[in-house]
Amino acid sequence: MTYGDGDGTSYGPLVSLDVAGHEMSHGVTENTAGLTYSGESGGLNEATSDIFGTMVEFFANNASDPGDYLIGEQFDLKKHLGFRRMDNPASDGSSLNCWSATAGSADVHYSSGIGNHFFYLLSEGSGAKTLNGVSYNSPTCNGSTVTGIGRDAAANIWYRALTVYMTSSTNYSGARTATLNAAKDLYGAGSTQYNAVASAWSAVSVS
Ligand SMILES: [Zn+2]
Repeated sequence: MTYGDGDGTSYGPLVSLDVAGHEMSHGVTENTAGLTYSGESGGLNEATSDIFGTMVEFFANNASDPGDYLIGEQFDLKKHLGFRRMDNPASDGSSLNCWSATAGSADVHYSSGIGNHFFYLLSEGSGAKTLNGVSYNSPTCNGSTVTGIGRDAAANIWYRALTVYMTSSTNYSGARTATLNAAKDLYGAGSTQYNAVASAWSAVSVS
């Protein structure tokens, strides 16, 4: 694995726990779905790493680095917000909150925003929320209100979708189908979790 050095002014060395979890999750993806690292499948590959990197940080429950939906806040020397956030990815000025037909031509670190936004909405729900001292406010692309099902259920669904249903060419529409199948396996068709997966994808404009 290669970690960035940072520039020593805005960013220190990129060696935080969430980024380590991100990089190692690329190995999980490579050995399961094998999502091709370009186009929409590349965005899903990057989103998978942000999702599991974030879950590693929450799981570690380290008092000096509490779990959050920010990526890289530990080495953000000035703002302490990191370079991506999952509740409102587009707030960085480059990442995508909502799917559109051009999503596949964006850099994979920006098209990942659609998957990150989906995961935040599925876990925590839309609107304002404060967690471990960090304030979030997640919008929806269709004006809906999404109620979250919690991080563990959301991560279980994503992991099963990645390891059982996604393939190298899965795009966002395919990820919707894959996560619905995973939710059906784990919680049942028509369960709260299954319905939340559908609502969260619709809230990021993926049908
Ligand atoms: Zn990555």
